[in-house]
Amino acid sequence: THFGFREVPVADKQKLVGEVFSSVAGNYDLMNDLMSMGIHRVWKRYFVATAQVGKGDRVLDLAGGTGDIAALLKDRVGETGELVLGDINGEMLRVGRDRMVDRGNVRGFEYVQCNAQALPFPDASFDLVTIAFGLRNVTDKDAALREMRRVLKVGGQARVLEFSQVKADWFRPLYDFHSFQVLPRLGKLFAKDADSYQYLAESIRKHPPQDELKAMMEAAGFDRCDYRNLSGGIVAIHTGYRT
Ligand code: SAM
Repeated sequence: THFGFREVPVADKQKLVGEVFSSVAGNYDLMNDLMSMGIHRVWKRYFVATAQVGKGDRVLDLAGGTGDIAALLKDRVGETGELVLGDINGEMLRVGRDRMVDRGNVRGFEYVQCNAQALPFPDASFDLVTIAFGLRNVTDKDAALREMRRVLKVGGQARVLEFSQVKADWFRPLYDFHSFQVLPRLGKLFAKDADSYQYLAESIRKHPPQDELKAMMEAAGFDRCDYRNLSGGIVAIHTGYRT
């Protein structure tokens, strides 16, 4: 392709979902900060700080988009580590690569345009596979989880950071108001795109809650599956291992 990414064919429906992100790619970071009041940065830092990863490791960050997770992972894998950013959307990858280069991160990074459901990597090729705020956009999540396990080395860890189910009853009305009233308005105001942000709120509600996702990871073949809620369950980190 014109950006030099490796490309694999994707199903039409999945392509449409991917295209939602083309319209938000340029404003993506600003919108994340506005919508979460900056808290997404804390979630991401925690997600990376608690990952099972070390110097020299090879890591795949799926739905890597604008590269927040990969940039944080760089310190953990060090000079000798390798980071592969995989994303279905070329626009998001391009924004991610530009930002990475701006930060001086060039060596040890690779960008691959791919669908999480059918990864163009051989079995057992990564020490860690991460997906942050990406799984809910994938059409066949079971297939994506199986693929994440397949490309992991034995002993490797998979980590999913994703919106989940808020635990406290009192907080739910507030959260709903924010999702369905505030979000689309912020989207309209700052990104001139209310629809994409309406889609965002809906995709969060449809995503499997904590225990359901844990069961899906077990069904995909992961061992020692577990999760931890952050911010009362607004998001959760799920982990599983290939053993
Ligand atoms: N991980 C980044 C972060 O935390 O800021 C980006 C998350 S962004 C909300 C979701 C990303 O998932 C988009 O860049 C989108 O292109 C990508 N995506 C959606 N469906 C995908 C799929 N089937 N395979 C790979 N990436 C996908």
